[in-house]
Amino acid sequence: MKTETTVQSLNAALAPARLARKTIGFVPTMGNLHQGHLNLVLEAKKLCDIVVVSIFVNPIQFGPNEDFDNYPRTLEADSQLLAEAGCDVLFAPSVQQMYGDQPRRTAVVVGEITDVLCGRSRAGHFDGVATVVTKLFHIVQPDTAFFGQKDWQQLAVIRQMTRDLSFPIDVVGVPIARAEDGLALSSRNGYLTDLQRKVAPKIYQSLTDAEHALQTQSSLADALTQLRASLTKAGFEIDYVEALSPDLAPVTAFDQDIVLFVAAKLGETRLIDNLLVKYTEH
Ligand code: AMP
Repeated sequence: MKTETTVQSLNAALAPARLARKTIGFVPTMGNLHQGHLNLVLEAKKLCDIVVVSIFVNPIQFGPNEDFDNYPRTLEADSQLLAEAGCDVLFAPSVQQMYGDQPRRTAVVVGEITDVLCGRSRAGHFDGVATVVTKLFHIVQPDTAFFGQKDWQQLAVIRQMTRDLSFPIDVVGVPIARAEDGLALSSRNGYLTDLQRKVAPKIYQSLTDAEHALQTQSSLADALTQLRASLTKAGFEIDYVEALSPDLAPVTAFDQDIVLFVAAKLGETRLIDNLLVKYTEH
């Protein structure tokens, strides 16, 4: 596996693949890699000739009170995992390499679907994501890009942006990788105390309970009320518990496929999860 830290050296590394018209799969990450990220790499390997992974902790998607400075940076361990998973090129640029010294006056802003869910409590977050992913798409020029369903809203925002701005890139969503007890794998799980780690799987359990309630005739409103109650009882401070359509439109009843979304804090650590609930007519 090659590791490149500048746009110029990345271009040089990819030149032979581009010349031979090999397909390039791209997995953008912020590092501190776990099996969830590696599943994206494995999916990319299945569908593309060459796999490029980026590791970049993107300052412009963090709010002023968020964890940019403390975000776990584990480049050495990450590169080992990526090499083992069969990644061909790791792109790990500095902030300086990505943003330079000049003021940045352009941003990519995706409307409406960034105003809901995480967009409500994380002002500017999705502008930062859409902007950095645009830059990375231009730099890497992939044929296909891979994103996790763990960040369902992010995936929807990237799909919308790719369509709206005519990026010639297929966006593939990859299912959520979970620990054995159901907790969605996340770099932020490392912030949890032992006790909080024991409570954290309750999010997924509550989501599957709500799915079961919906499929056994509870109303959507009742299922959401029950979901909120069980999280509060377990000790979570709820940011949101909501149901939307898979493309983030409002829903009022369980009469179509829906996604249940949770964002909740245990102490200072904010966890997100979601579950697609399929509708089958009886
Ligand atoms: P991050 O490093 O947190 O920015 O995540 C990089 C990519 O990995 C994003 O597309 C995430 O949605 C995806 N990802 C993170 N955790 C998981 C997980 N548990 N399962 C599937 N994809 C994930």
